[in-house]
Amino acid sequence: MNKFDYMQKHGYEQLVYFYDKTTGLKGITCIHDTTLGPALGGTRLWDYQDEEEACLDVFRLARAMTYKAAAAGLNLGGGKTVLIGDANKVKSEEYFRAFGRYVQSLNGRYITAEDVNTTTQDMEYVSIETDYVVGLEGKSGNPSPKTALGVFYGIKAALQYVFGDDDISKYTFAVQGAGQTGYYLIKYLLEAKAKKIYLSEINENHIKRMQAEHPEVELVGVNDIYSLDVDVFSPCALGGSLNDETIPQIKAKIVAGSANNALFDEEKHGMMLRERGILYAPDFVINAGGLINVAHELKGYNEEDAIKDIKKIYDRLLEIFKMADENNISTQQAAKLFAKNRIEKIGRIRSNYIPK
Ligand code: NAD
Repeated sequence: MNKFDYMQKHGYEQLVYFYDKTTGLKGITCIHDTTLGPALGGTRLWDYQDEEEACLDVFRLARAMTYKAAAAGLNLGGGKTVLIGDANKVKSEEYFRAFGRYVQSLNGRYITAEDVNTTTQDMEYVSIETDYVVGLEGKSGNPSPKTALGVFYGIKAALQYVFGDDDISKYTFAVQGAGQTGYYLIKYLLEAKAKKIYLSEINENHIKRMQAEHPEVELVGVNDIYSLDVDVFSPCALGGSLNDETIPQIKAKIVAGSANNALFDEEKHGMMLRERGILYAPDFVINAGGLINVAHELKGYNEEDAIKDIKKIYDRLLEIFKMADENNISTQQAAKLFAKNRIEKIGRIRSNYIPK
């Protein structure tokens, strides 16, 4: 791939390669867009086949963060880091401290956090060397319950939009996956007295946990979850679950869950849902609760304030749903437009000079 062509085409600002000769640390930080503020995005440690694969991944992930942060109303841009290596072999204090020094060298243009194969403990080492890291132990804590809370409010917004009433107790739900986010989502739905919840899961431990804590949640087969006669289908497992095969089976009027890249093909399947009269809550808007929560560390973490901001996902989704209907586009496209509009408008107000 020609990296400069790719950067030009998608508006990337910076791509930074780093290699630490003392630890063998190898990585790439990508800063997509900092119109709204410093680029924030986690650090993924992965045993990529080659540099090309790592580079494509970091490009894609950084750009997604720009839209996610913008749509979440944050004054942050989009960025990401990928570290190339085997998570079972490379991790050590010196490895992450070496990484922290590269983060620091970007002087605040990029703020990192944990992601796949990196933990809050790893970030503690990173924080010894840089001020630009969030998601530390004892601060904003585990993001998953907050992501789930955002999904809960997003589901309420979708219910309001479709049925004109967001009272959870009147509706039935099918949740796919009861891991970090699905588990908490089910808890919130039960607290709000959901009429009925069905669950599909493949992890025996997660099934047992749910059956022990909430036997009223009914377990169904992995392939049966799509066709249930429920009001809301909530994908909280892996990406790509909304595709040619599954969408025709869905009877729910609403699809709203935590899963990233739930649409197998964004354009095609976003429109397919629309044409079938199913309201889809765009993934990067409804699942931004964890990001909003961790971003609060930048102003000194206060849980109440973070929750207040997470609840704003409700109004934001209503606006996006309306935009999609008015323009006859998918809600995913509308969400991107919503994010781009914010970046453009806020970028413009900063065009006048003010002395520092
Ligand atoms: P997780 O791995 O903790 O949970 C996913 C669960 O889905 C697991 O219990 C797994 O066994 C189950 N699962 C996998 N395949 C399944 C299938 N075919 N049918 C039924 N269940 C299946 O992950 P998570 O943190 O809950 O994340 C779920 C999704 O939400 C992911 O796409 C993730 O990227 C996204 N997300 C998570 C967060 C967060 O804060 N954790 C934030 C934003 C987005």
